[in-house]
Amino acid sequence: MKPRIEFAHLPTKIEALPRLSAALQGPRLYVKRDDQTGLAFGGNKTRKLEYLLAEARNQEADLLITAGAVQSNHCRQTVAAASRFGFDCILVLFGEPPDPPDGNHLLHYLLGADIVFTERENVKDKLEEVFQKGQTDGRKPYLIPYGGSNPTGAMGYVNAMLELAQQDPTPDWIIFPSSSGGTQAGMMVGGRISGYTCKILGISVDEPASALKANVAKLAADTAASLGKDWKFTEDEVLVNDDYTGGGYAVMGEPEIEAIRLFAQKEALLLDPVYTGRAAAGLIGLIRKGFFDTSDTVLFWHTGGGPALFANKYQEKLV
Ligand SMILES: *Cc1c(COP(=O)(O)O)cnc(C)c1O
Repeated sequence: MKPRIEFAHLPTKIEALPRLSAALQGPRLYVKRDDQTGLAFGGNKTRKLEYLLAEARNQEADLLITAGAVQSNHCRQTVAAASRFGFDCILVLFGEPPDPPDGNHLLHYLLGADIVFTERENVKDKLEEVFQKGQTDGRKPYLIPYGGSNPTGAMGYVNAMLELAQQDPTPDWIIFPSSSGGTQAGMMVGGRISGYTCKILGISVDEPASALKANVAKLAADTAASLGKDWKFTEDEVLVNDDYTGGGYAVMGEPEIEAIRLFAQKEALLLDPVYTGRAAAGLIGLIRKGFFDTSDTVLFWHTGGGPALFANKYQEKLV
């Protein structure tokens, strides 16, 4: 196993969702509460950051640099981890900055990030520029990729699957939002290590299934390789559904609104407009299509994202 700084609140709980299961007349539903990982409103990036920060510290870095959308949960958790462990943090953000800052973007400032805006297509160049400037200024920058999705970050979900294997119940299916692929790749590697047989189905947030499958298969193999395991993962083994990408990244449509309301009003679970709202819309759609057997146990893995609910652009649609 790789170096890790343990700061997430783990293991996250699994809770039964009887009222939601009844409302949907579906299979037995459970949730795993990775929205409660404890780091500044939590979420799936917290698990990845336990490994990324350990690597940064081992490299004697003093400056974390990463990128994301203006309402990025990944950037919020990265700057939170930076502030907690004494790193400086530069965020390269794209998208229309809300004025005044709201949701995750408010927290980016509050947690002390240095913020650089750019166009989405220039992110790579901007990251390079910021990294080089850090070096020229005598800093030791450490670059974290989009979503913390590399073999180091994916370790968070390798470990999460080992954690799940110790918990009850054992689901037949795991459903969750998949985007930069680190969560899914880590789950697949961890699932293989623990001999876990449940099906790991990512609901694509933005990518076509073919692209996401290729990305996850490669990242899973690279993650396994970084653990000394020569394992192949075929694209067919990566289960992805891309029927629910709706209006595109961060566009909250009717299916997401219905899902957010239903989870809130049946189970007091707060989903987010971009990721978990979309994955829950996928779960609801699949249940209505009869995709699951009624005897199945289905685990919705809540990956966090709640602060985006408080972005003004979503608020008026949710009341
Ligand atoms: C980043 C994120 C995801 C997607 O995880 P990946 O590892 O990038 O696929 C899902 N849900 C939330 C709330 C996120 O912030």
